[in-house]
Amino acid sequence: MNKLKTIIMSAVLSAVSASSVIADDFKYNNERFADLQMLRYKVPGFDQLSLRQKTLVYYLSEAALCGRDILFDQNGAYNLRIRKMLETVYTDYQGDRSSADFKAMETYLKQVWFSNGIHHHYGYHKFTPHFTQEFFRRALRGVDATKLPLQKGQSVDDLCNEVFPVIFNPEIMAMRVNQKDGEDLVRTSAANYYGAGVTQAEAEAFYEAQKDTLAPEPVMYGLNSRLVKKNGKLQEDKWVLNGLYGQAIKKIVFWLEKAEKLAENPSQRAVIKELVKFYTTGDLKTFDHYSILWLKDTDSMVDFVNGFIESYGDPLGLKASWEAFANFKDLDATKRTEKLSSNAQWFEDNSPVDPRFKKDKCTGISAKVITAAILGGDLYPSTAIGINLPNSNWIRKQHGSKSVTIGNLTDAYNKAAHGNGFNEEFVIDEATRKLIDDYGDVCDDLHTDLHECLGHGSGRLLEGVGDDALKAHGSAIEEARADLFALYYLADPKLVELGLTPNMEAYKSNYYHYMMNGLLTQMVRIQPGKDIEEAHMRNRQLIARWAYEHGKEHNVVELVKRNNKTYVKVNDYAALRGLFGDLLKEIQRIKSEGDYEGARQLIETYAVKVDPKLHQEVLSRYDALDLAPYKGFINPVYVPEFDSEGNITDVKIDYTESYADQMLRYSTKYGYLPYINE
Ligand code: ZN
Repeated sequence: MNKLKTIIMSAVLSAVSASSVIADDFKYNNERFADLQMLRYKVPGFDQLSLRQKTLVYYLSEAALCGRDILFDQNGAYNLRIRKMLETVYTDYQGDRSSADFKAMETYLKQVWFSNGIHHHYGYHKFTPHFTQEFFRRALRGVDATKLPLQKGQSVDDLCNEVFPVIFNPEIMAMRVNQKDGEDLVRTSAANYYGAGVTQAEAEAFYEAQKDTLAPEPVMYGLNSRLVKKNGKLQEDKWVLNGLYGQAIKKIVFWLEKAEKLAENPSQRAVIKELVKFYTTGDLKTFDHYSILWLKDTDSMVDFVNGFIESYGDPLGLKASWEAFANFKDLDATKRTEKLSSNAQWFEDNSPVDPRFKKDKCTGISAKVITAAILGGDLYPSTAIGINLPNSNWIRKQHGSKSVTIGNLTDAYNKAAHGNGFNEEFVIDEATRKLIDDYGDVCDDLHTDLHECLGHGSGRLLEGVGDDALKAHGSAIEEARADLFALYYLADPKLVELGLTPNMEAYKSNYYHYMMNGLLTQMVRIQPGKDIEEAHMRNRQLIARWAYEHGKEHNVVELVKRNNKTYVKVNDYAALRGLFGDLLKEIQRIKSEGDYEGARQLIETYAVKVDPKLHQEVLSRYDALDLAPYKGFINPVYVPEFDSEGNITDVKIDYTESYADQMLRYSTKYGYLPYINE
């Protein structure tokens, strides 16, 4: 719920901070296919770590790769089989590899790798294959059948007959996460979190019965299991060492236990031990203990995330997808976020929010800037640039949260976007472009910091309001809350006083960019005729549209036409800040009171529909730029060196592995799960 996929997007879409880009011969941009651009990221500072720290990062990075198949299976019951079928044809096909069919299959496979399944990672819709069924069937018949994911007694044709409708029929498993009000969200979502025959009403009733919102420390029910029906009765298949996904979890635990021996201090050792215990037992109380230990460990240089964390992939917002990454502190940049977190109470006290919904005491908000060393699971290849965890509300309230921004990834986005023509096309004039060139970088980073360190951590729920009161709209509202907190404070003189922004002009770069993105440019991610589904995108359009509509009377923000092109024109930045403050106040009220109806109305009025004419215009202008709307990262490869006794003597980084080689290697090396997981 608290991941910054949002802001990533602004970084992805913009060519901010061109002037601050320093020449650098590292190749950030890599290959491009479909709507995707692959990038590489540098891991600066790795060579300066001690051998022990490097080895620790290496062990944690192995643990971060071992759960890849879990996510594929969570995203859809056929994904592992489809991936294997595609990969086998990709590597073994003897026919014409330059044919249109083969090329189209290659693109499709690259999309499947990227999305960890057959549905778009961001829009959730199923990919349309542009190769024929006949081609694929012939190709599968032509490869060594022992390499195919055949069930006992199954022929290649049987396999095709079973799986092809899932690939080729657009009606079947059309959406990974369906969020349309009024439909059975469980049965109409392809995600593999609920077994055959389980309905939304049954799933909701099952967890409602377990839930005690008045309990002081409620666990996050349903987080780590698939809910299935066996003999007509509902039961949870837990994702644990001796349960579902156990084959992969065993490997994760193996590497975690090696990491534990190299832990930097007793607190970190306890964190890893508790996580292993959670993977072993599946006990959600243990998970909460682990989360508390994890958020309190702020001293360690090396850190990690590894587990079932975010619930965007479940239409009911209960079940968490597997994700992981390993990282270490960026000491210089962390000074910036420490300034924010040490003033957390000031920000809480001075926000426009109703005092009833404020925290009396902001506890334990820690913030640091980190360098990502490896990305795994739901953070790979598409990733977050900031993370604020844990997600449990009672823990956040009583113990705070740990907030990080990932400096080297932001940097890679910015450098890769340099000079791509985007701002020249969509920003209204030279003066505004200069504003963005001068301040975009620093303000984007600050927006991320404010969103993560303070935004998500601010405010409180009224007594008796459950974490999931806003249901399907909870994620979008929560992201809006954090974004509004960031937007509101970016324009505050306090930031100049703290030395975080250079002057009272700088914030305008972020305001302009946010409005442009929310009103216009994020639409490039939506297919013609489609609504906005993804929570972060809904959040951004909600904020931008709401501010635009509510500022109309005083002409705060306009959409103007020049040479038949639409531009955002901000006439009054101070008034825009006022509007952000007003909406923050209302969104916090909705969150604190658990006002589902209020949330639904805001979302449906402002966040879902796009103007088809404007959409078409933006798409064609964007197409002309020939840029990919989505980006993701190829991981570096960590290569340990050993002495004759098998001790690690150094760990080297290699940045040369290609996207396809990496994906194929991961499928082979970390392909721990059976093709069907039941
Ligand atoms: Zn967030």
